[in-house]
Amino acid sequence: MKTEILSASAPGCGEKASAIIKAGGLVAIPTETVYGLGANGLDPEAVAQIFAVKGRPQDNPLILHVSCVEELEQLCHDIPESAYRLAEAFWPGPLTMVLSAKDCIPKRTTAGLSTVAVRCPDSEITREIIRLSGVPIAAPSANISGKPSTTTAQHVYHDHAGKIPLIVDGGACRVGVESTIVDLTETPPRLLRPGGVTPEQLEALLGALTVDKAVTASVDKDAVVKAPGMKYRHYAPQCQVLIVSGSAQKAARWIRANMRDGDRILCFEEELPLYEGCDALSYGKEAEVETLSAGLFAALRVLDDPNVKTVYARCPEGGGVAYAVQNRLKKAAAFQVIDAEVLA
Ligand code: AMP
Ligand code: MG
Repeated sequence: MKTEILSASAPGCGEKASAIIKAGGLVAIPTETVYGLGANGLDPEAVAQIFAVKGRPQDNPLILHVSCVEELEQLCHDIPESAYRLAEAFWPGPLTMVLSAKDCIPKRTTAGLSTVAVRCPDSEITREIIRLSGVPIAAPSANISGKPSTTTAQHVYHDHAGKIPLIVDGGACRVGVESTIVDLTETPPRLLRPGGVTPEQLEALLGALTVDKAVTASVDKDAVVKAPGMKYRHYAPQCQVLIVSGSAQKAARWIRANMRDGDRILCFEEELPLYEGCDALSYGKEAEVETLSAGLFAALRVLDDPNVKTVYARCPEGGGVAYAVQNRLKKAAAFQVIDAEVLA
């Protein structure tokens, strides 16, 4: 199969993509978080292809993408008032809500759960494709399962050339990490995955928020968890990743003293002068955390090279969007953190 990359602004792009979705095929779609591998979320056969192409474990449910909040009612029942408040504040945007699923949603989409995850993405072309398709689009991140997520059309092409007919190119993703997921079927609501909508923003609207333990610690692969995707080693290049915390100077001293041939450094742009001669890779500016979330996966993809043994990574501190960056990097590092303040 030939894989076409079509610009989101090309005439007829929405029609072409939605025709494939309606016929039960796969289309890679741009969103502000990461690129998704989309199919008709109400068609079990179409959804099965997503799992096959990605190599995604069957127990990892998909997110349904809608074009507006009104479409929620066709998919979910017992929608709490808080869902509408969150949609009003953050949709279209990087927030996914877990709600009670109606029977029209195939078990393949929800991985057999009675709940479903729904999001309205902030991409004009993707919402147009959903509208023209007339169905919600199920779309996980478009990477091969276990690999760093796809934040450009070229990343998707790299992973799936010859396996899908169309990639809609909407440019590099603005947020760069997957959506925030909040489960509204529990009281208080539970944060299942941090993302571009921050815990602080959610708390301001919802009041109390439980943070699922899978956000901050590794989960056993056989564990029964609330968001099954969280137990898999995610976002990771094939080498070992080690986070080195502490001041810029102490971390640099420790890394330079301990790194070996074949190791790489992933740091903030501000720290590059501390690693002269070490071929360090920057993924954004510490002072502008949005550049770190936007650049993280592209950098992890560069480091996903069989010649790289260990990546020493610098991770931003604090809440807000930094919290989502910490979560992705810590998952890539299997939660291994070395404190250079203590060791250096
Ligand atoms: P991805 O689209 O690859 O970012 O993965 C979607 C993630 O959404 C899954 O890995 C789950 O963690 C989460 N998810 C989807 N549906 C549900 C659900 N019904 N309940 C809880 N979590 C869900
Ligand atoms: Mg994913």
